[in-house]
Amino acid sequence: MKKNVSLEEAQQLLLAQAAPAGERQIFLAEAAGSVLSRDVVAPLNLPPFDRSPLDGYALRAADVRQASAAQPVALRVVEEVRAGFVASQAVGAGCAVKIMTGAPLPDRADVVVPFENVACRGDLVCITEPLASGSNIIYAGEDVAAGDLAAEAGTLVTPPLVGLLAALGMETVPVYGKCRVALFSTGDELLEPPQALQPGKIYNSNLHSLRAYCRMVGAETVTLGTAVDEETVIAARLGETLLQADLVMTTGGVSVGDYDLLPAALRKVGAKILFHGLDMKPGSPAMGAVCRGKPILALSGNPAAALIAFELLGAPLLKQMLGWKNVLPQRVGAILDDDFAKTSRQRRFVRVRLEAQGMQLHAKLAGSQSNGALQSMAVSNALLDVPAGSGPLKAGQSVEAVLTGPLA
Ligand code: AMP
Ligand code: MG
Repeated sequence: MKKNVSLEEAQQLLLAQAAPAGERQIFLAEAAGSVLSRDVVAPLNLPPFDRSPLDGYALRAADVRQASAAQPVALRVVEEVRAGFVASQAVGAGCAVKIMTGAPLPDRADVVVPFENVACRGDLVCITEPLASGSNIIYAGEDVAAGDLAAEAGTLVTPPLVGLLAALGMETVPVYGKCRVALFSTGDELLEPPQALQPGKIYNSNLHSLRAYCRMVGAETVTLGTAVDEETVIAARLGETLLQADLVMTTGGVSVGDYDLLPAALRKVGAKILFHGLDMKPGSPAMGAVCRGKPILALSGNPAAALIAFELLGAPLLKQMLGWKNVLPQRVGAILDDDFAKTSRQRRFVRVRLEAQGMQLHAKLAGSQSNGALQSMAVSNALLDVPAGSGPLKAGQSVEAVLTGPLA
């Protein structure tokens, strides 16, 4: 077992245990938030035919080569074609077809002139300037050509990707199955609403925040409440979770106090401990383990420590199991707007609120940086990554941060 590993080593040790769940074919309507398990090759051209991007007249560039305001060229309008229909004939010399946005270009037409640029007289349309062949035409396959890679395996299915796959005529898509996370907390002090608060007790927050996080990443969750601080109870709960899920996350009881019994319980169920302790603040009391091929991440009970370690370790683990290609948190540069007085003997993650001001990101301290403080976590959208051995940070200096939420 490794002790006090770096965040990067812990990520590697855990990710080495995480394989994506099996594949399944699902309806497009259910696919947003899943991850493509295979490359999608376009089965047809997008768009499927040459078409007009505007309302105008389709004609032959050669016919209007000499057109000018002084000597307009008059063409005979032989037909009208609108979106969803096909012209009955090719455009002959000296002729034009009135065409609406999205309608297929009639055969032998090679330009479309917008309505705004022409004058009409009876069944004649007058063109006052020449156009290069190909003007105002969207060619078949211009967006995606049949046979081209439309989307890569490992891509998160977003609303635009749903649209692209629908435009390619796909009814179902191949995605990785949803992984299922089992969650439970440990701690004699924990209550759940509507239980009345008792002296010395607190409401369990971690179970709820972690469940919300896991669901936001796209995993399914089973929550198994709270285990009291007894080794046999925790071991039994671990045993249950291992039966019900692909991976397990717990909070509390991983530190070195008399009632920190997760390490013993993990050993009791036969888990192999990958690491115990992270060389960072907050979140140092965390353990990674594997049992029956299932990864286990045991997080601190302190809410901010648990959530920060979840962002940095738990979310990448889940993403890998859900099939994401890029699983590690995004890093950005920013200017710090406040002083941060503390020195950092250990690597430290500081809760900040990032805001874009023009092209520059600015970071403001999000409030209390205590291991247990939740509100600062709730208002932050990034964590400054402060290297070990740093002195106090000064307003105006450049900093590096890990994104944990959308920019303000
Ligand atoms: P532990 O990691 O079990 O030593 O707990 C550290 C601190 O976090 C203690 O103050 C606990 O009361 C608190 N804590 C533990 N579990 C939770 C939880 N599920 N929700 C909120 N606070 C917790
Ligand atoms: Mg505890």
